[in-house]
Amino acid sequence: MVTIVTDIRSPRLDYVLDYIFSERLGIDYNIVFEQTADTPQPVISYKVGAQSNITIAPRTYNEVRSVFNNIDFTTSQRTEQVPVIQGNVPNFMRQTDATIIDQMPVIFPTECNFGFDLFAAVFFMLARVEEYNDNAPLDQHGRFMASQSIALKNNWLHIPVVDVWIEKLKAELLTIDPTLQFKTEKFELSPSTDVDSPWCYLHKGILRNTVGLCRDLVQLKLSNAITRVMVLCRLKSDPHFTFRKILEMNNKHSIESHFFVLLAKRGKYDKSVNPSSKAMTKFVKELSKQAKVDLHPSYASCKGSFGTFGEEQQCFEQLAGKPANAIRQHYLLRNAPEYHWLENFGVTTDYTMSYASHAGFRAGTCHPFPFFDFANNRFTNISIHPLVLMDTTLSEYQHLSANDAKQQIANLLTEVKKVNGQFSFLWHNSTFANTQWAQLYEWILNQ
Ligand SMILES: [Zn+2]
Repeated sequence: MVTIVTDIRSPRLDYVLDYIFSERLGIDYNIVFEQTADTPQPVISYKVGAQSNITIAPRTYNEVRSVFNNIDFTTSQRTEQVPVIQGNVPNFMRQTDATIIDQMPVIFPTECNFGFDLFAAVFFMLARVEEYNDNAPLDQHGRFMASQSIALKNNWLHIPVVDVWIEKLKAELLTIDPTLQFKTEKFELSPSTDVDSPWCYLHKGILRNTVGLCRDLVQLKLSNAITRVMVLCRLKSDPHFTFRKILEMNNKHSIESHFFVLLAKRGKYDKSVNPSSKAMTKFVKELSKQAKVDLHPSYASCKGSFGTFGEEQQCFEQLAGKPANAIRQHYLLRNAPEYHWLENFGVTTDYTMSYASHAGFRAGTCHPFPFFDFANNRFTNISIHPLVLMDTTLSEYQHLSANDAKQQIANLLTEVKKVNGQFSFLWHNSTFANTQWAQLYEWILNQ
């Protein structure tokens, strides 16, 4: 049992305490207003003037009240009142307040004996407060950019800071009560595959293939043209239909295969095969028998059309014979303020949390966490499974070869191992057509 002495009561503080103590540490905790002689140890004071071995209280009482209570965010107030970025805000919420303490990056440093406001910091990272700033520029797809994040600006996007902070808290608690038993966490590899289209050439219709063939010829991509013709004449298998290879590799390492399948009408950024075609129906049904399959909602479904999202869910449920309640959005297209509407569609698990442009820890953690709806100040039923790494981040955004990408992956693996987290990574089925990238995937499975 850990006692927290505080007079702040808010859904935000409740969320943080529940996450840290129940979900992560697996220990009971109690919140009290005043410490007495009978208060069970260890005690964490989160209140000015309270005495205990661990104080996480901020420099002034008003500052902590601002994080958890005073600033009442509503959707309409978002623009100027996001505490991190704009001027008229408490000092400790400004980006300049990121610093290093004991070789550990922290935000909201304070003069308490813990060195920083751990509760506010965890809340800030998990609730993705900085993404609610309407003034932050978005990328061409409307995504919050890594370059706008406090983590990348301070060069610690590659560190799961929330997990590091919780480890630090664990160590402090143990110095006071060495008998405390924490929940055991262990390092885990968690690969998954996004299927933007199961095929490169097959089942895409005569028109699309004719246009593609002409383009290949004009651009002198002769080997592509030859492969296309051979595949269409069934003299060669489709290069992107790599599912047997993926299943074999995962099975060999006793890892469950997990696929997210796009089932969308064709659009500029959604280029799969007609979801109601015989080929697609057969594909999803067969794959569902051999692996865990979930929905990969389209680009179009995240651009304001609620109907489209629902249609894709329905289509998935028909083909896969299970509810579409776990998803990863195509193009990793979701900012924090848009998460809460997933609840309207019965989504309970989301695997989208990552930046397309940079690998690392967008929410500062490599452990699943419940999503907190910051704009409406409430808990949600959505569990977020953060993604550490996507293949195309390295190959397309950073233009790395498979070989050059290895060091970056090794560094991320080390960080995840240090905090016994989940190394969740995403390879597209099309990526397995490239031998070097397929080998790199297997190299990760061997770690
Ligand atoms: Zn996709």
